[in-house]
Amino acid sequence: MVVELVCVGTEILLGNIVNTNAAYLSEKCANLGLSLYYQTVVGDNEERMTTAIATAIDRSDIVILCGGLGPTKDDMTKEITARVMGRELVEDPHTRERIQAFMDNYIKSQPEGKITANNWKQALIPQGASVLDNHNGTAPGLIIESGGKTAILLPGPPNELKPMFEEAVYPYLRKKQPEIIYSEMVKICGIGESKAETDISDLIAAQTNPTIATYAKTAEVHIRVTAKASSEKEAKQLIKPVVRELKLRFGKNIYTTDENKTLEEAVVELLRAQHLRLTTVESCTGGALSARIVNVPGASDVLKQGFVTYSNSAKKKFIMVKKSTLKTYGAVSSKCAKEMAKGGNFTTGSDVAVSVTGIAGPDGGTPEKPVGTVFIACCLKGETKVREFHFNGNRSKIREQSVVNALILLRD
Ligand code: ATP
Ligand code: MG
Repeated sequence: MVVELVCVGTEILLGNIVNTNAAYLSEKCANLGLSLYYQTVVGDNEERMTTAIATAIDRSDIVILCGGLGPTKDDMTKEITARVMGRELVEDPHTRERIQAFMDNYIKSQPEGKITANNWKQALIPQGASVLDNHNGTAPGLIIESGGKTAILLPGPPNELKPMFEEAVYPYLRKKQPEIIYSEMVKICGIGESKAETDISDLIAAQTNPTIATYAKTAEVHIRVTAKASSEKEAKQLIKPVVRELKLRFGKNIYTTDENKTLEEAVVELLRAQHLRLTTVESCTGGALSARIVNVPGASDVLKQGFVTYSNSAKKKFIMVKKSTLKTYGAVSSKCAKEMAKGGNFTTGSDVAVSVTGIAGPDGGTPEKPVGTVFIACCLKGETKVREFHFNGNRSKIREQSVVNALILLRD
């Protein structure tokens, strides 16, 4: 089964927005075992859209289109696809009702807003098409089947496209593609990619089905184990012994085998399970660590307080770093990091505190403490451990590595 993507929008074509939908959809199609040979980006131009859509439908079994389903004049995807596939547009009462309900709700929060005539354009659907309800916007998705070809039309905004894909398109495609590609992800932290790959070079050399691939992330390595099988159950059976072997080899460096789980989620889960309340004390990361933690739903069970103590005076005033420590060792020192973590716990009464202090650059480095020197400390019920890092890269890379390593230290 050959699938193809057509992403519509002049703003994508000209690079004003990044085509994240294409990355998302391609990965999903690959996971489904569909063959993806082409991706097209076309601007909001009737003639060029017609050519792009007709070409795609001609050479592929399934064409997934995204964008251009909205109410405005330059949203033409539905009209053109219907024309190419020889379908009339007819009003769909169900969609009309949903648009009415969505707009009524919207107007409640935006009293000056009103339904304009062009909103109803979205209730027109190609005759015989299946409607995919949009729970996050007004433009419904559509599946049009004609002469052995399928066009799947999805709204452009990713927060509308993704839920619609998961809910309706994935199950639809799954039925069309009997042999599936199923993969599991083993996520490792605290080991570099080259070491991880070396540790499993024998497994990689022997791989056929499933296959094993490593991906380097900031201070993490993700290992994807992918199997081809006739059912998910069969694929899971194939994958199981490989994942078991990876667990044996990487032990506690594995923080999850759940593809969707992030390191911060694993950390929050761990702290929650142990009923530990956390305080973050950040200098060079400037709140990025607490922001990552707060990204996790339910972080409030765990995070008690976050300090951004960027200046020396803030370190002294809020978290009781000693004047003598700053004077003798400096703010970027193992001693200061330890005092920050201890002071964090003391001030807030939390069980565990993590602190980060370092030189993110580009200025501020010295021969003894070059840019990239970062100290991270963790204080758990009075016991403090500290680690010294020397990160490479620019300011944002150093800050990102600091955040990830603080999460890793919290996990340890
Ligand atoms: P709307 O009803 O919002 O007009 P639409 O289906 O007509 O939705 P577009 O007008 O093409 O979609 O795009 C709306 C917005 O969705 C874009 O401004 C952009 O922010 C986002 N978007 C569209 N296509 C993509 C894409 N391929 N990748 C990432 N974001 C996209
Ligand atoms: Mg639009």
